[in-house]
Amino acid sequence: LKNELLIYKDKEAITRDGKRIEIAANISSKDEIEIALKYGADGIGLFRTEFLFMNRETPPTEDEQFETYKYVLEKMDNKPVVIRTLDIGGDKKISYIDVGTEMNPFMGLRGIRLCFERLDLFKSQLRALLRASLYGNLKIMFPMISSQDEIIKAKKILEECKNEVVNQGYNISNNIEIGIMIEIPSAAIISDLLAKEVNFFSIGTNDLIQYTIAVDRMNEKVSNLYEPSHPAVLRLIKMVIDNAHREGKWAGMCGEMASDVNLIPLLIDYGIDELSMSAPSILTVKKVILHG
Ligand code: PEP
Ligand code: MG
Repeated sequence: LKNELLIYKDKEAITRDGKRIEIAANISSKDEIEIALKYGADGIGLFRTEFLFMNRETPPTEDEQFETYKYVLEKMDNKPVVIRTLDIGGDKKISYIDVGTEMNPFMGLRGIRLCFERLDLFKSQLRALLRASLYGNLKIMFPMISSQDEIIKAKKILEECKNEVVNQGYNISNNIEIGIMIEIPSAAIISDLLAKEVNFFSIGTNDLIQYTIAVDRMNEKVSNLYEPSHPAVLRLIKMVIDNAHREGKWAGMCGEMASDVNLIPLLIDYGIDELSMSAPSILTVKKVILHG
């Protein structure tokens, strides 16, 4: 850890216009919380929960998940923690979840689509999240939303889970924000409608760029076309932030672009409210926002 950057650890990222940007960390396991805190994360902007399900023979139980989410929320001490529901499929395969053979896995049974097929897995995760909600500042985020129907359906299933756990005698927070990843062009294009259904958006540029430019994020042969500053991508990002703000909602970003110091001034200009990134980038980003 470079000493000259350490002075930014406890500083807030305030822009020249006096707006505070939340600088959060992306994590994939509870062990990464320590690193996030070491680098001065204002919160967790993306907990990729699929890694809890990987490298094992069976899915984690509801209780096992509850313990993990509770630990993360407690460690973050009331700072915001965005936990994303399972985003299996695409490049993330799991031995005990069969999605069949797909010609285009990134356009296949992935994220929320798979969760709707596997309600057993989805509901046990939602129940664990609801039970853990008392222990901190939980925000639940759904991945791979492409339509208004999907978010309405996801929220309905969440309501069912709420009723179940409350009937079983658990207390849950009445303050849980609900958000979605904006990572599919259709979601960005109808973000005015989607903003009415949620508390926040988090722009997933890794997928949004892939789907907007039709360039496989894993395929090195076309990586020259993978361009975060493609005008089509920038227009979508601006539209998403504007549409969130029109409904009084906040808009963050949790794809790799969130730590691109060359593009951060533009994102700030567009009105981005939160940037979430791998922890080692946090101090540099705080410095750039404070001093340009
Ligand atoms: C994204 O798509 O930008 C994102 C943050 O999600 P993931 O990289 O896990 O697909
Ligand atoms: Mg994604």
